[in-house]
Amino acid sequence: MRGRRPIVFFGDSTRQGIPTTVCSPSLRSTWTAPGESAIVETTPACERRRGRNRGKHDPAGRRPRESGDMRQSFAVIGGGVLGLTVALRLLQRGQAVEVFEREALPGGLAAGFDLNEGQVGRQPIWLDRFYHHIFTSDLAFIALADELGLKDEILWRNPPTVTLIGGQIYRLDSARSLLNFTPMSPIGRLRTGFGLAILRALPSPRLLEGRTTGAWIRGVMGNSSYNTVWGPLLQGKFADAADEVALPWFWGRVHDRSPMLGYLQGGFQRFYDRLAIKVEGMGGKLRFATAVRQIAPEPKGGLSVTSSPASSSRPARTLRFDQVISTLPTALNWQIAPDLRRGDYARRYQWGQAIGAHCLIIALDRPLTGSYWVNINDAGYPFLVLVEHTNFMPTSDYEGRHLIYLGNYRPMSDPLFKKSKDEVLREFLPHLTKLNPDFEVDWVRESWMFAAPFAQPVVTREFKEHIPPFDTPIAGFSIANMYQVYPHDRGQNYSIVLAEALITHLTRQQHIPLVAEGAK
Ligand SMILES: Cc1cc2nc3c(=O)[nH]c(=O)nc-3n(C[C@H](O)[C@H](O)[C@H](O)COP(=O)(O)OP(=O)(O)OC[C@H]3O[C@@H](n4cnc5c(N)ncnc54)[C@H](O)[C@@H]3O)c2cc1C
Repeated sequence: MRGRRPIVFFGDSTRQGIPTTVCSPSLRSTWTAPGESAIVETTPACERRRGRNRGKHDPAGRRPRESGDMRQSFAVIGGGVLGLTVALRLLQRGQAVEVFEREALPGGLAAGFDLNEGQVGRQPIWLDRFYHHIFTSDLAFIALADELGLKDEILWRNPPTVTLIGGQIYRLDSARSLLNFTPMSPIGRLRTGFGLAILRALPSPRLLEGRTTGAWIRGVMGNSSYNTVWGPLLQGKFADAADEVALPWFWGRVHDRSPMLGYLQGGFQRFYDRLAIKVEGMGGKLRFATAVRQIAPEPKGGLSVTSSPASSSRPARTLRFDQVISTLPTALNWQIAPDLRRGDYARRYQWGQAIGAHCLIIALDRPLTGSYWVNINDAGYPFLVLVEHTNFMPTSDYEGRHLIYLGNYRPMSDPLFKKSKDEVLREFLPHLTKLNPDFEVDWVRESWMFAAPFAQPVVTREFKEHIPPFDTPIAGFSIANMYQVYPHDRGQNYSIVLAEALITHLTRQQHIPLVAEGAK
């Protein structure tokens, strides 16, 4: 299923789990692609070969363009889908690129983990840290998957998506299921269907700007629709800001999404490993487990990037680049680039809130529900959504484990983010008997917990006015992040769309070559 190329990353990763190590000056960089078999080489020959190959070797046999004064050095901050796509496109245009990623592996919010990590002699099995799927409308993601040779490994299904209301499970993922949705009156159902049809038919949300989701739903779909279906979802996701959520964002959620869902066999981490390998193969330098601490303009032009190992006390170091692109959440850019905190720019764009994501994942020895996705609309549950991943993908992909995510979006100050996994298990598990009365705690064989700050911007009505442009007041410093994909909801697809838009912008503004050399 996966190739067997050695992969060379630079950084200070201490990630293990794969019975391999990589060509690394220090042997600290032990991250490698799941299923990839890397070769242990830390010798001078390895060093020399790495130097020789830098910028020359590429699996597709392409050579990066040596374009004289068109060739600039770029630092890309963040090795999620956005940063890696930007890096790939820059390399395809002959630019020199170095990616800095705080984590020990690529993928950002869409990265995975090895279910068998630390278990000697067992093959790695990867699962996303946060539940992920794609939609048939995610054309940019599908196109990039095609470029990476993974398109045919996306599995498309229509797994049951249900909502828990008043202790009952209702399927609510099609026109037919809406018509049969008894918690609402027949008129309420028709009004809800009408509202959804309007949002689907509207090609652009332009006319919806300035309105809030809650008011629009109450007006068009009715109070019962809001109170039963949409209100609990908005409150669960945006807490106090639920009533202020911008209607164009809701348009995006309804308009962009298909009932058919796609999942990459082996997990989305494979996508990011392939992307990282491709970037590396084209001469890009990947610095994992390396956090950027500061970006500052240089007196003679260009920018300095100061970084240090993400989880050790090794000293920071500073490198100079012609251009820097940050894909970090907007709030983090203010921290690493203090020169942004000035004048009109800061007044307009240093604004807004973000919420964090939290997922408890449990592996059971048997199924819990008959559904893939369960929205929890009833009060009193400590989680917002239950995603039974193995009601989409087969348990045989996971050595028989039945995998369930219990997910939450919470303000980053929420006490949940400070709790240990055992505390969270004790709090969450008793609620599972409400979903399956037979459930016993000893069905739980393994568990994992993940949290991410700044995982969802709070998209209130004024949000649009405060979306920063790509260019910043610091010459050569651009930002591109998921806060800019509005009115679309953040998602892998829209980060790729944004990456392509940034490249188009740079080709216009910065005179990098217009045509990607050797790009597909
Ligand atoms: C719970 C949840 C469910 C989701 N479900 C879906 C789904 O079903 N489908 C879908 O398509 N999308 C989904 N998403 C959204 C998707 O994960 C994101 O939109 C996408 O991964 C964003 O990618 P990005 O590269 O723009 O940002 P990120 O992935 O956030 O990348 C930013 C990177 O910057 C790194 N970084 C931060 N600080 C520093 C620093 N100082 N120095 C260096 N690096 C740094 C981070 O480690 C991170 O890797 C979901 C997200 C969450 C949280």
